Amino acid sequence: MKKILLIATGGTIASKRTENGLMPLILSEELLDYVPAAREFCEVEALQLLNLDSTNITPEHWIMMANAIEARYDSFDGFVICHGTDTMAFTAAGLSYLIQNSPKPIVLTGAQKPIDMENTDARINLLDSLRYACCGKAHDVSIVFGGKVIAGTRARKMRAKSYSAFDSINFPHLASIQDEQIVHYITSECSGRPAFYHELNSRVFLLKLIPGLSPELLTLIEDSYDAFIIEGFGVGGLPDNGEKGFLRAVERLVERGKIVVMATQVVHEGSDMTVYEVGHLAKKKGLMECRDMTLEAAVAKLMWILAQTSDLDRIRAMFNTTIRYDLLFT
Ligand code: ASP
Repeated sequence: MKKILLIATGGTIASKRTENGLMPLILSEELLDYVPAAREFCEVEALQLLNLDSTNITPEHWIMMANAIEARYDSFDGFVICHGTDTMAFTAAGLSYLIQNSPKPIVLTGAQKPIDMENTDARINLLDSLRYACCGKAHDVSIVFGGKVIAGTRARKMRAKSYSAFDSINFPHLASIQDEQIVHYITSECSGRPAFYHELNSRVFLLKLIPGLSPELLTLIEDSYDAFIIEGFGVGGLPDNGEKGFLRAVERLVERGKIVVMATQVVHEGSDMTVYEVGHLAKKKGLMECRDMTLEAAVAKLMWILAQTSDLDRIRAMFNTTIRYDLLFT
């Protein structure tokens, strides 16, 4: 029987009702008590790493999770992390860069309703995750939720309340799970030892454009950040309104050695700054581009890269290198 480590970090799945609303209070061993069927196909040990609403999860917690897995890597065949849904896609992306080339699966899951509620999605998600973590074809970081298996670099929380909370963005699901059956759509080989990384640089800022936004803020905060992601409109471009405008402000950031990356507010199909003049002009200033990468992956990837180097050419090369399906449009 495969041996799986269940790592509990909190979230709705582990929450109870309190007078101040849902709060993670259910511990890892108790989570397992709700899925007795798991004992039929795997041996599970539980680790209570955190007990937080995922609103409070930070990149330091991603490192904690990666370290916890590294320390126990040889003792288990797979890992299931119970996590809040709100920032699960960021954690999945973070872990995809912190733990690379892992032949053993690392599965994140959670629920829209606490595990102690009658009409919860928690039990099925947890069972599906344990089942997927036992399956020979699974490896690396993924999210198992609502019957979908999504690569850790491709997930986005798309629905705030209904059970099918996550979609895979600009990339197909790796597999689906229904009635205990796993149907694989994408398989690949993975062998050898994983690469574990231990540092992230969280000096990454995200700015969402709205029509008429003044670039003043960028000047005020530029010393506090090493990289700026600008979530623009459509396939990408920057408003050009002269010396005091956005394009000029971004050019100044690049001149000062800051990394500026263009992303799009449109969830599907990604950016392509070559299409419009407003994109061309911006790209000429030295901007990088997310293309089909999710925002969550771009944020986590920059944090991972900037922890390793401040060399601009290396940053560019690393950002544009595909890691675990994160970027296909090159
Ligand atoms: N606020 C919760 C969290 O992210 C939501 C959830 O888990 O569904 O921890």
